Amino acid sequence: MKKYDILFTNVDCLLPDMTIRHGTDLAIRDGRIAGFAGSPAEAETVLPGEHLLVMPGLTDAHIHTSQQLLRGRLLDEKPIIWKRVNLPFEARLTAESSTLSAELAAMDMIRCGTTSFVDAGGKYAEAFADVYEAAGLRGRLSVWTNDSPHAPDALRAASPAAGIAALRRLRDRLAAGSGRLGPIYSVPTPTAVSQTMLRAVIEAAMEDGVPFETHLNEYAPEVTEFLERYGERPFVWLEREGLIPRQMLAAHAIFLSPAEMEVLARHDIRAAHCPFSNSGKGVPKTPELLARGVRCGFGSDGAGHGGLDLFREIRLFRCLMNATRGIESADSSVMPAETLLRMATQGGAAALFMEGVGRIEPGAKADLIALRTDGAHLWPTQNLLHTVVESACGADVWHSIIDGRLVMKDRELLTLDEARIRAEAARIFAREPHLTSWS
Ligand SMILES: [Zn+2]
Repeated sequence: MKKYDILFTNVDCLLPDMTIRHGTDLAIRDGRIAGFAGSPAEAETVLPGEHLLVMPGLTDAHIHTSQQLLRGRLLDEKPIIWKRVNLPFEARLTAESSTLSAELAAMDMIRCGTTSFVDAGGKYAEAFADVYEAAGLRGRLSVWTNDSPHAPDALRAASPAAGIAALRRLRDRLAAGSGRLGPIYSVPTPTAVSQTMLRAVIEAAMEDGVPFETHLNEYAPEVTEFLERYGERPFVWLEREGLIPRQMLAAHAIFLSPAEMEVLARHDIRAAHCPFSNSGKGVPKTPELLARGVRCGFGSDGAGHGGLDLFREIRLFRCLMNATRGIESADSSVMPAETLLRMATQGGAAALFMEGVGRIEPGAKADLIALRTDGAHLWPTQNLLHTVVESACGADVWHSIIDGRLVMKDRELLTLDEARIRAEAARIFAREPHLTSWS
């Protein structure tokens, strides 16, 4: 038995302060970063680090596993897309097609450098759990709890009690696993469900000590609807009613009043911005949120909103910030590279509510990726950090390690049988053409 499980030699490494340590060794043992030294003779697996940048694996802070098959379907659709297109699509998924959806999402995530995620919820979350457990990914899963009379029959919870029971079943199932997957209780949006359901889910999260997530302040009309129904803006009302759990994640969080931003800061509510998805809705007030200490990460909002590659979300967000905030303030560094990469790593990891993720330092969990930096679009460079923001993409991810285990090496997936999954997909698509064809 050797001292280390994996050793990178002579590698560049992105540190938590967003500086790069050049030409270092990096040792991994028992799922954690052991330190910045080691000799090849001491390691089971040695990964030569020349032309590699090791950085924390990215966290997709808002993904919809059950929408993996909606790629290409949503572009140019009119709002509100999730009610009109996504829900009817999800209502037709079966346990089998949900398993396939998760397998394709797992392949996609690992290939583009995502090592952890927060799923927004699905009817067959237990099927997702089986897939993600085998794939070796880290994340949180939820059951789609929706009691709206407008929800498709297949996705409607019979009652708040039934919704809570489903969430707790998933929690218990995940507790029996590896520990990489955990529960997160959710409602789609506060206005999509009854007040009874909203209160019941949040109170269950508080009682069980489980994080709570929901889509919040994503569309201006949803904020107006909330104001009409509750007389206050969403975050202000939730605080007044004592309905903010100790661990809460707000997906999107675009249309925020100053008072709401204070609520986010006061309760350490984490925000997941989804730049590609959001760019048709609004631009979040991220500089103001970050200035208040709110932890913000990036989410893909599922493959239907421009794919799962978070490097693209980083770059797009930089463009959105500069095109809006940068121009009005004549400040081209309104969202610097360090801030963007900190959001994608530490900010996203904060949305997981799991200890020791999103940083490369001794003792932290070994969730990391190695980017090839010698591609013609990346090399040579005068500033590698800037070049990662400007030009890196998911296809540059060469190795991926989660919980100290190699899940992709030299771009070969080690935990998923890609050929089998593609064959299975072909078989299911032939039988259920509505999964891939919408015309
Ligand atoms: Zn979403």
